[in-house]
Parts: sequence; structure tokens; C-alpha cells
Amino acid sequence: NDDQFKKVISHAKEYGYVFQSSEIYDGLSAVYDYAQNGVELKKNIRDYWWKAMVQMHDNIVGIDAAIFMHPTTWKASGHVDAFNDPLIDNKDSKKRYRADVLIEDYCAKIEAKINKEIAKAAKRFGDTFNEKEFVSTNQRVLGYQEKIDNTLARMGKSLENEDLADVKALIEELEISDPLTGSRNWTDVKQFNLMFGTKLGASAESAMDLYLRPETAQGIFVNFLNVQKTGRMKIPFGIAQTGKAFRNEIVARQFIFRMREFEQMEMQFFIKPGTQGEWYEYWKETRLKWHKSLGSGDENYRFHDHDKLAHYADAACDIEFKFPFGFKELEGIHSRTDFDLSQHEKYSGKKLQYFDPEENKSYVPYVLETSIGLDRMFLAVFSNSLVEEELDNNTTRTVLKLPAVLAPTKAAILPLVKKDGLPEIARKIVEELKWDFNIDYDEKDAVGRRYRRQDANGTPFCITVDHDTLEDNTVTIRYRDTMEQNRVKIDDLRDIIKQEVDV
Ligand code: ATP
Repeated sequence: NDDQFKKVISHAKEYGYVFQSSEIYDGLSAVYDYAQNGVELKKNIRDYWWKAMVQMHDNIVGIDAAIFMHPTTWKASGHVDAFNDPLIDNKDSKKRYRADVLIEDYCAKIEAKINKEIAKAAKRFGDTFNEKEFVSTNQRVLGYQEKIDNTLARMGKSLENEDLADVKALIEELEISDPLTGSRNWTDVKQFNLMFGTKLGASAESAMDLYLRPETAQGIFVNFLNVQKTGRMKIPFGIAQTGKAFRNEIVARQFIFRMREFEQMEMQFFIKPGTQGEWYEYWKETRLKWHKSLGSGDENYRFHDHDKLAHYADAACDIEFKFPFGFKELEGIHSRTDFDLSQHEKYSGKKLQYFDPEENKSYVPYVLETSIGLDRMFLAVFSNSLVEEELDNNTTRTVLKLPAVLAPTKAAILPLVKKDGLPEIARKIVEELKWDFNIDYDEKDAVGRRYRRQDANGTPFCITVDHDTLEDNTVTIRYRDTMEQNRVKIDDLRDIIKQEVDV
């Protein structure tokens, strides 16, 4: 629900997980920065995926292809011609607007009007406060604010499925007009390509038009033969990759769920034509199991089979996750046939075939793809972990119950008091453990408050050094989720933590 989602966003900022990009300049829409804790969580998710896909499969290897690719790549892949979103034509000025830009514009104008009203009112009131005037200004401002909220709420709903008819209907419904002049002239809806363009080369004549890749998959397809040959890979085998992708998304309003710059974790599995059915089932089950292994609750996942298939696919489904705003796509599993490799053969004039020694013939392999958004996975894990608990003593605590394997900081070492040699022992424990884990040291405030801080930060273990430690070299280990406390030997700490954070 809305409230929970708002809490997720503000918690992510307050605890150093996600910041708006270029915040001091009021941010950039649908672009975000990962902060000191966020970068660790993101890295841990990436590693968890990489381990499951590459390390645990002896027939899957990884690559890291460049973001820039030869422009013909995107002709061959179909992105130049088919990767489109709705756009609105303004007949009067012959200008083209994307639906979201247009609506954002509209809201910005209303907001500007609010600010003007407020500034005017402030000037008018001066030192003499006029209650009547204040109330009427206030009402006007609230009216504008409501208009913005309604517009944004409807926009999020109606544009969600990116259907042209929907966009048109929404525009009609909102009666979009310039809030200052009142004129209303938005009409035709056109298509807009989602790829970001850029140029390579210094002079205008020699510059080459490039795109920022909208998916990582193509870097794998164009390297298929290089990897197969140099790695002496035998079909079936896979190539995995994680990296940035860029899409000029039309509706990008749900925090890091849909961004204009995001990261994908993809694996393309090359198989014998005709075996795609069984591999499709295999990867569906394998990927779902991977998600469930994190313990976020099996009921929060479901498959959604596609009825309408993309031009390259003969079967496709999503693994959906229950986000605070409902079940939404988290990962896609696509049976891509030989579409991509055949297209690259056609456009490059190079053979992209595999000689199958068992069959004693060459063929273009079929491809089974698993594709997950790292940022979306981050949001899934983060939002699912954030809970508010009622405690026995009628207080509440905010806990970020991240799976221990993914938590940015594994343990916090806390001297009970800042004297009697306790900080020194605590620092020594930090020095020993930091070779294996990200460790935090905290001596500020009462220990109860420090526990709460670590709970909200997602740290699975707090280790407290007290006066008994001086006697027997034991410490208290407190578990974030149960708040249970045990007395353990300092020498055993590494093994205890390792057991909990290892997979
Ligand atoms: P959607 O329908 O949500 O736009 P898609 O079907 O276009 O996604 P794919 O092209 O299959 O997505 O990309 C695979 C995965 O990449 C998605 O399941 C999602 O997790 C992630 N992804 C795609 N677009 C974005 C984006 N703009 N921001 C963040 N993650 C994204």
C-alpha cells in the first residue's frame, strides 16, 4: 500500500541506501544513486546471483561487455524499429511530447502557480496578518496541490500498460490544458523510441550515432562464438553478465522499480533447437527456487505467463513479486529461439553456428534467457524486509530484516560503556573480524538505542562487550530478528557469524 511504500522510500534515504540523483539540483527524474549501505546491498545481491549462476554451474561462464556497441547491433536486434512507447503530437506547435514529459510539465506549471500565490500572499501579509486572506490563499493552494496529486495518481495507473488507447483516454480525461492560458490542444499519439542516443567522434561529419544499450543481452549474443571457441564450451552452455542498461522510460514513477538507468543480471543459455521446452521449464523452476531461497516468503512470488509474445520469443513468463504496490514483474524468462543469433548472422555476414560433435552437424543454437533487474531485486528485498514491530512493553521498533547473506553490515561491535578498557577490547574485535566481514563499531548513546539503530540499518548481529568480558573473554551476541541474546566466546565469533551469513 501507499503508506508502506512511502516508508520504504524514506527509510532508504534516512539509512543511506538510496538517494535521488543530483539531489542538490532537485534531482533527475527516474535516476537514483546508491548510498553507502545501498551499494553494499546491491553488490551482495549481484554476488548472490553470480554465485548461483556462474560459480555453481560448470557450464555457465561470465563476461563483461561494453555498454557501447556497434550501431548495427540495434538494427539486428530489432530495437531501432520496434522498441517504442507512445508519444503525443501537439498539432499547433508541431512539437512532439512524450506523455510523461507532457504531464510532468503540466504539474510543474501548477506548482509554479502555487509558489507564485504563496510569494504574493507573503508580500501582501507583511507584518499584518490577515486571517481571512490567509485562509482563502491556503484553500487555493490546496486546490492546486490536489490537482497535481490526482494527475499523478491517474497517470501512474493508466499509463502503466503503455497502451496507446489508454494514453489517449487519459489525456482526454484529464482535459490537459495549459494551466496558465487554459488552451487545450494536445491531440495525436505517436511512438517514441526508448533508446538513448549519443555520438562517437569529435567532428560533426565523422561522428557516428551510437545508442546506450537498452539491454545487456546483445553483448552476449555478439560474443557467443568467441566465448564458445576460447572456452571450448559444449552445448548446452550459458553466458552470464551483469551491467548497466538505459531506457528512456515513459512512466518512471515508482522509485527504483522503473528507472532510466538501471542494472540487469542476465544469462543466455545456448541449446539444441527442439529442446527449448524442457529448458524453459528447467530455468523457470531454477530461478523461482533461487528467489525463494532468500526466505522472503514463498507466497510473495508467482509466475505470469505471457499471452502476447515479443517478436523474438516462442514462450515467455515473468516471475512476479508482491511489491508494496502489488504483484509486478521482477524477472523475465524467455525462450528466444534462434532469433538473435540468426539476425546477427544476417547483419554481420558472419556465421554464428555451433558444430555439434554428437549430431555431426552445425546449427544456430536456440537461446533460453533469464533476465532480472538488479535494482528491482533490491526494491523487492528492501521493501519486504522493512517491518514495524509492536514490542511487549507497548513500544514499537523498526527493523530491516534483510537476509543475513545480503546485509551491508554483518555485525556491530558495541562497548557497553566508553570506559574501563571496554572500547579497546571492542576495537580489537573489529580488527579481527573485518578481514571477513563488513563490521561497524558504535559507542555513542545507550546500548538500547544502538541496538535500535542497528535494527533499522539491517545489521543481523550486535556484539556487546561488557565488564564480564574482562573476566572471561566472552561477549553478548544479540540477534536482530528475535532480539535473543547469547553469551559466546570472542574466539568463536568468526565461526558463528560465518555460519549465519554463508550460503
Ligand atoms: P517492464 O515490462 O517492467 O518494462 P520489460 O518486460 O521491458 O519490463 P525486460 O526487457 O524483460 O523488461 O527486462 C528484464 C528485466 O529488467 C525486468 O524483469 C526488470 O526486472 C528489469 N527492468 C526492465 N526495465 C527496467 C527499468 N526501466 N528499471 C529497472 N529495471 C528494469
